[in-house]
Amino acid sequence: MNRPKRVDGSNLPSEALDALRSSVKGKVVVKGQSPEEEYRPLLERWNRMHIKEANIIVLPETEEDVSTTVKFVAEHNLDVAISSGRHTYSGPSSGYGLVIDMRNLRKVSVDVDKMIAVAQGGCIAGDVEAASEAVGLRPVMGAVNATGCGGITTGGGIGNLSAQYGLVADNLLAARVALADGRIVVASDEENQDLFWGIRGGGSNFGLVTEFTYKLHKADPQVYSGFFMFSPDKLDAYLELMNVMNQDYVMKSNGKLAVNGFLAIMGGNAIPGFLIWYDGPEEEGKKFIQPLLDLGPIYPGSGAEMKPHTLTTDWKQFETMFPPQFNRLVGTSTQISYPLSVDILKKTVEKFKEIVATHPENLSVSKLLFDLRDYSKIASIPLDATAYANRRVGCLIGIDLIWDNEELDKEMMQVAKDFMSQVRAWIKEDNQQKGIAEVGAHVGATTLYALVTDGDEKLVSVFGPNLGKMKELKRKYDPGMMWDKWYPVDPELPN
Ligand SMILES: Cc1cc2nc3c(=O)[nH]c(=O)nc-3n(C[C@H](O)[C@H](O)[C@H](O)COP(=O)(O)OP(=O)(O)OC[C@H]3O[C@@H](n4cnc5c(N)ncnc54)[C@H](O)[C@@H]3O)c2cc1C
Repeated sequence: MNRPKRVDGSNLPSEALDALRSSVKGKVVVKGQSPEEEYRPLLERWNRMHIKEANIIVLPETEEDVSTTVKFVAEHNLDVAISSGRHTYSGPSSGYGLVIDMRNLRKVSVDVDKMIAVAQGGCIAGDVEAASEAVGLRPVMGAVNATGCGGITTGGGIGNLSAQYGLVADNLLAARVALADGRIVVASDEENQDLFWGIRGGGSNFGLVTEFTYKLHKADPQVYSGFFMFSPDKLDAYLELMNVMNQDYVMKSNGKLAVNGFLAIMGGNAIPGFLIWYDGPEEEGKKFIQPLLDLGPIYPGSGAEMKPHTLTTDWKQFETMFPPQFNRLVGTSTQISYPLSVDILKKTVEKFKEIVATHPENLSVSKLLFDLRDYSKIASIPLDATAYANRRVGCLIGIDLIWDNEELDKEMMQVAKDFMSQVRAWIKEDNQQKGIAEVGAHVGATTLYALVTDGDEKLVSVFGPNLGKMKELKRKYDPGMMWDKWYPVDPELPN
């Protein structure tokens, strides 16, 4: 297979860079040549652990710029990374070679009659939400408006509307994609269907998406939403309540109720909480969260109200949970089936407490997450319909270890890995005891949500039974493995 060795571009002749500069409308920023105050901020990533000093950063202004840049990458065998919202847990949007930084391609146009939004490849979720909601429509996006459409759509994408309408990727109608040779092609149900299959869950394995066309949904502008916190003595009751909330409320809400559990450690105690989101009027919403109210939340600090949907995804409301000074993070996750084993939940919390206790100051904003939403819409779509393989019903248990001291990076990466291995082992053991070999709506569906991982999972855990087709498509669309940053599928390697 034709697979050139990728280089970082530091030895490129100046004529080559001059030629690139003169052939694109956008900026070409070069390490050591461009002013530091221009270069350095472009390296910033939400997770500061993954800042890398790229040699060349191209900021395309047009789709043609993207195409020209990709051709340049191909011609010089450069290491290349794509950066859109810069919001990944792991570091695939950073690299040492050339970064195609999509931040200047953020236009959105909405067709109200057709109920579609066409978004440029550098948009963040908030761009599409704002443009759509201004005309009474809503896209399916994630929980946070700062997340890039690029990562969230190509990796799957789960948000509060997913229980009604599926993944972000399930609401993608078409895309324009820059392939490894620089050609821009359309991927849809009508054109290049295999590519369309691959970019819905296969990440950036097959190309860079320069434009997304999303299906929109009619929606009331306001939703009922808020946070509820509980004192540490309520922990056991809180964990017991998770099954009740999922089975008796979330699953009976026609996809309108999303409940997310989160838990932090303060002064050695577990402070549990729920974030609730209900797509309907307050009177209805209140009925759906009655068990939380009965448990006795902490006031002030707890409560829900009607608010514009765009406010519920506003990154600002999460900033107290992710204070900017704590900017090094590892997030990993797994799925556990219902009914949840409260014993496993308790052991998970205890283990988390032990971890935080090792560096209480540094890990104080770390969190455990329990995603109790209704996954049955996502799981109702056949597993081989798209590359996305995690189509099953379950609760996603995640850990966000967050710290602010670079010296802890290596240790924390390992601690998070070991923690999740332990949780997975408990789940496996429990399944065996119950005689469950394979759980979920589809046999073979993975238990992994790849967008919330440390970037280091086995390919078969990410793509499951779709790995074979991923390899076929990689051979067709990217034989030289140019796109090698987010779970790159190497067709030469065994599954
Ligand atoms: C605080 C926080 C909250 C989150 N909440 C959710 C959530 O509610 N639901 C959910 O599903 N996920 C969530 N995520 C995960 C998030 O969806 C992923 O991290 C996603 O990859 C971010 O996309 P990005 O474009 O911002 O990332 P970037 O770091 O810019 O890019 C990451 C990778 O995405 C791919 N990519 C980016 N742009 C393109 C493009 N134009 N074409 C092709 N590939 C591209 C590339 O592989 C790139 O390396 C959350 C993450 C964080 C940090």
